[in-house]
Amino acid sequence: MRLDVDFSAIEAIAARFRSERKFEIKSDDEMPLERIDIELVKGIEIQLSDLESVDGLLAYKGRHVILYIRDHAGGFDDAIRDPENGKRFHVADCETLEYMRSQGRFERYVVTQSTTGDFEISGTSYATGRIASGVARLKVCKNCLRKLNYDSYALARSSERNKKRDAFDLLKFFETYSTRFRQLPRGLADRQEASGYSPSWPETSRRLREAASFTCEGCTVSLRDHPELLHVHHVNGIKNDDRRSNLRVLCKDCHRKEPMHGHIFISRKEMSIITRLRTEQGVRPRDWEEALRLADLAMRPTMEVARHQQWGVPEFDVEVPSTRGRSRLDVVWKEDRRAIVYEKPSEQIPGWRIDTAGALLDELSSSLRG
Ligand SMILES: [Zn+2]
Ligand SMILES: [Zn+2]
Ligand SMILES: [Zn+2]
Repeated sequence: MRLDVDFSAIEAIAARFRSERKFEIKSDDEMPLERIDIELVKGIEIQLSDLESVDGLLAYKGRHVILYIRDHAGGFDDAIRDPENGKRFHVADCETLEYMRSQGRFERYVVTQSTTGDFEISGTSYATGRIASGVARLKVCKNCLRKLNYDSYALARSSERNKKRDAFDLLKFFETYSTRFRQLPRGLADRQEASGYSPSWPETSRRLREAASFTCEGCTVSLRDHPELLHVHHVNGIKNDDRRSNLRVLCKDCHRKEPMHGHIFISRKEMSIITRLRTEQGVRPRDWEEALRLADLAMRPTMEVARHQQWGVPEFDVEVPSTRGRSRLDVVWKEDRRAIVYEKPSEQIPGWRIDTAGALLDELSSSLRG
């Protein structure tokens, strides 16, 4: 049998893929849920040397984690009574962790993807003089929040900072940075919240999206070719209140930015599709407000500091010439030839300065410190 194959077409496709290497991210559903993903929700005891830093965030075996110290020694009772006395948990590669590393401190560190805010700690109880364990609602480390400019922490007045620290929510934190990792925190993201909907919900949702011509009521991107990325949101958070006034047709990115949205993890691949379509369809930011509204949440903290330092309004997903042909940059200041990206490209982009979001944040933040 003879096959007539037009190789030029295949080569053209291959070349296209080569220039879009950044997008060759394995989609999350192709990866099996491994034992470690399940264990991480409970917590895994590690050595500090096993902890990885991914652009300023903490990781264990490539997965996004937070870190806490289980052993509270003689401070155990105090920490149980008032978490303000407990050891802080860490969400970034902050200066406190750096110091602990340099001191070669050996404690029982636990990495986890738990989002309950309850941490199992241990220590010596005054009352009994014995080793005891219990649950404490530990507080997040302020150095971590400042390093990440999380929730605009680094730009906030000191009087607002305690409020931001107390409002810190772990589920929101993991959702914010989902695109920075090659895979979602599976033990968290796979948890389906399917209950609470009315029986007619699938049909109602389908009809609404069709009536909206598959267009997001937030950013106006059309998702006709990616209907799986178009959701219908319940404004008041009540999932069986299907009155039209309580429903909004939203792309997955606009949906996760709504206050009462529940549980939404967006992958880098999904965010790339939405961003690419917005750009192709002319949905571009005209001012800083719009740029921050359209931005990936994982890029926002860096962009906010850039805005604070009087940088111009950036663009998203811009193609530039590179040594490999063309490359795509994620958040771009064209006039200054600067950009931030999720991962540094391996190819050279002549005349440009490309940083990861975390690296630029560190650079700009150093001038914020007084
Ligand atoms: Zn910290
Ligand atoms: Zn949208
Ligand atoms: Zn919703």
